[in-house]
Amino acid sequence: MAYQVLYRTYRPAKFAEVVGQDYIVKTLVNAIRNNKIAHAYLFAGPRGTGKTSVAKLFAKAINCESFDGEACDQCENCKAYLDGNHPDIIELDAASNNGVDDVREIIEQVPYAPLLGKYKVYIIDEVHMLTAQAFNALLKTLEEPPAHVIFILATTDPQKVIPTVLSRCQRYNFSKISTYEIKKRTMEILKRENVPFEEKAVEELSRLAEGGMRDALSLLEQCLSYNPEELKLEDVEHIFGLTSTPEEVDLFNKIHQNEVSEVVTKLRNMYVQGMDTKRLAVDLLEIVKDALIYSDQGKENLLNRINAIEAQEILRNIPIDTLLQDAENLEEVISREKQNQNFLVYLELCLIRMANTRRSASPKKTVEKKEETVKEEPVKTIEEEKVESFVVEPETEFLLAILLDANRDLKVADQIIYNKLDLYAYEPEKRKFYQMLIGTELFASNKDAIIICGNRSQANNINTKALNEELYRFINKEFGIDKMVYAIDQDKKNELIELYKKTPVEERNKPVYVEKYHFDEVKEETPEEKLKDLFGDTLKVEE
Ligand SMILES: [Zn+2]
Repeated sequence: MAYQVLYRTYRPAKFAEVVGQDYIVKTLVNAIRNNKIAHAYLFAGPRGTGKTSVAKLFAKAINCESFDGEACDQCENCKAYLDGNHPDIIELDAASNNGVDDVREIIEQVPYAPLLGKYKVYIIDEVHMLTAQAFNALLKTLEEPPAHVIFILATTDPQKVIPTVLSRCQRYNFSKISTYEIKKRTMEILKRENVPFEEKAVEELSRLAEGGMRDALSLLEQCLSYNPEELKLEDVEHIFGLTSTPEEVDLFNKIHQNEVSEVVTKLRNMYVQGMDTKRLAVDLLEIVKDALIYSDQGKENLLNRINAIEAQEILRNIPIDTLLQDAENLEEVISREKQNQNFLVYLELCLIRMANTRRSASPKKTVEKKEETVKEEPVKTIEEEKVESFVVEPETEFLLAILLDANRDLKVADQIIYNKLDLYAYEPEKRKFYQMLIGTELFASNKDAIIICGNRSQANNINTKALNEELYRFINKEFGIDKMVYAIDQDKKNELIELYKKTPVEERNKPVYVEKYHFDEVKEETPEEKLKDLFGDTLKVEE
């Protein structure tokens, strides 16, 4: 199929070329360097995020005879891999071979020593598609794998992998790739292909790819088969049924001018013309976010979707609290998209609701009150909103699921953070983690998360997004613990314990999907970055 050509051509040939999974790559490279290779890996994450590519590179690297951060591409093993006929690297796509026979065939081969390399590597793609029987056959092998065998299981749907298999794997969660990185890589590829492009067009494509590099390239392929001469924004919009940003801004402003019937008519016309309604909702949300960011920072370079003039125009006409409600409304309708067949109806309802928010929140009723409302209320609301949106407050249900999946061994292992805590009191760069954690206790650990208990303000502090990310990164780097940290207070702890007691035993140890932080770049800080970390953006302003 033609659209796979670009993806195949530009599939990463080295670890350094893998886009957006730096942390995982770094960890795997270190594992090879330190000879700490596990027998089974689970690569979980959305489609097109590099699971199979990384699996292949890893298989090549562990068999390379002179690995040095990358496979050498020179030795016999590397050559066999590059020719596509390494006898010890076996790939199976469970989506097409989900029968127990295929797995049995593989398993029969497992005891035999590798033919060429050090390890026999089995890459099973879309492993969740295996039948229950096939899973059980696989499980037996995973229980006592011979030293020369490594399994890499990849899946977009880890919930469907049976827990007994999950628990035998070292798990890596591949995250969606940022639009920025997709855009960067896509532009590189266009340059190498000598195709002129409009940057806006690449940006739009990258956004449409929703975190998948493979999707980005197949979208690009579609555009290039439509117009091989150049990648233009209008072509992208035309091919994928998108509305242009000015049209969307116009629509958004209309909603708030109470022109509901016009908006609905317009929306229906767009729909008839094949417009992507979910995309429109996402775009409107981005417009709202841009306007809010602009109101707070006043910097044009922070805007994604609209320009400063459009942002100013929106802010002139629409109060900030209304924008915040718009964001909520839009977020809600977008989250419903997967469940609702008739998304258009929900979107219409959402837009009508938005128009009405404006009417009821409109500060124009009396002239005297107008000033007060405009001046005071929005300021308060945005501050509150800021605090809220920067705090990661996990839901009780989610925490309970983690608790049900937690076990003592993991908790004991994670206790290392606390055992070493005192040492950090004297290290200037790490002191903040000491301050953050001192007086709290480790409550529960499962494979992907830690729950910490402290008082309310400690919990809030740890759950604050920026600090939480830093803490995640810190325990990762310091102890190799790749887990999200959630903090609760004593009341919540008691509540969770009660809920735990009430839950039937068979509900325990069920895998929980924990979305982890994704860092665009995991690298040593340059001196400039360090300065920036210490002094914030002030340096930039002075420049
Ligand atoms: Zn090699």
